[in-house]
Amino acid sequence: MSAAVNGTAMPRRVTIVEVAPRDGLQNEKQHVSADDKVELIDALAAAGLTRIEATSFVNPKRVPQMADADEVMARVDRGSGVSYSGLALNPKGAERAITAGCDEITYVAVASETFSQRNQGRGVDAVLADLAGVAAATRSAGRFLSVCVATAFGCPFDGRVSAETVTDIVKRILDHEPDEIGLADTIGVGVPSQVTDLFGRVGELTALPRRAHFHNTRNTGFANVYAALQAGVSVFDSSAGGLGGCPFAPRATGNIATEDLVYMLDGMGIASGVDLAQVAGLDAWLAGKVGHAVPGQLGKAGAFP
Ligand code: MG
Repeated sequence: MSAAVNGTAMPRRVTIVEVAPRDGLQNEKQHVSADDKVELIDALAAAGLTRIEATSFVNPKRVPQMADADEVMARVDRGSGVSYSGLALNPKGAERAITAGCDEITYVAVASETFSQRNQGRGVDAVLADLAGVAAATRSAGRFLSVCVATAFGCPFDGRVSAETVTDIVKRILDHEPDEIGLADTIGVGVPSQVTDLFGRVGELTALPRRAHFHNTRNTGFANVYAALQAGVSVFDSSAGGLGGCPFAPRATGNIATEDLVYMLDGMGIASGVDLAQVAGLDAWLAGKVGHAVPGQLGKAGAFP
């Protein structure tokens, strides 16, 4: 089936990076046990997710929900063919992720100074300088390095972030030869025209796979996915149930929901390899574990037809 829409060539197949175990749970007040995280990860793998952001290697005092990162990584099913990533904000975190057996390291650079100070504890330049060591360690361990630019679409503290700022950071990231480059709308303020512009600019800088991380905070998440598809982006982060938020970004809410994303992709004839019913079937379990209803829409409306 052709996925061409209005004459625009879109990817016929995309890869979804499932972030519920990390971005989805990190902001939840109710503690989710390592047992439950492993059960969730295994269920996501069974639903067809092939890349799963399993955890983050950050300071457990700052993000208590991720204090069991090593245990979770030690217990996930290594025979499932899933590529497991660990998020790192500094070289120490990247080393921990490598030691824990992560297949991928997701290193976070930041496009705005104040968020960088609050989230990473140091400025934009220092975070980029640390990428040299992270890239070298990841490469020598034979792991995949994805580098993501947080607050690329706007900062909760510094406001608007210019496209030039983002492309300058992307250029500096490319110097370290990552395997993939991501742009994150950390607080869900981006709009489709901005997505078209920024991913277009990144596409002019590199032929590397481009990865989009959208939050649906202001209901622009799926319009942003559509714009990113039109720009040729083929890797999308999403969270089962639409859980998510950031402890260091005030009022940040959920990632785009995996089940809503799969519904949209299925309808557009774009393959993701994810079974819609299976991933949507996790909503009730997730709601029980976090102690509140999940924001994903498909769980409320049901699939169609
Ligand atoms: Mg996020």
